[in-house]
Amino acid sequence: MPLYEFRCRDCGSFDRSFSMAAVPDAADCPECAGSSRRQVGGGAFVRPGSAAARLIDATTRTASEPAVVGAPAGRSRAPVTRNPLHRKLPRP
Ligand SMILES: [Zn+2]
Repeated sequence: MPLYEFRCRDCGSFDRSFSMAAVPDAADCPECAGSSRRQVGGGAFVRPGSAAARLIDATTRTASEPAVVGAPAGRSRAPVTRNPLHRKLPRP
């Protein structure tokens, strides 16, 4: 079930899970039990802290914090061919 964000005037926002057919416009705040309105926006299908959420966060983070690498991926010192005649070919 998707998560929906609600905002309590006193306590801030919190997430609750409802089916799409039964999502209310307001829910009780888990801290003060006050009525909290649902925020405008789509529901989230990914639970915070789950493996999918961590993957999405890591993928998003690579846009602003790319991992530093020492060499291009997939390049190695191993010869491409084992044919001894290829060693006589000119090098770039
Ligand atoms: Zn509250």
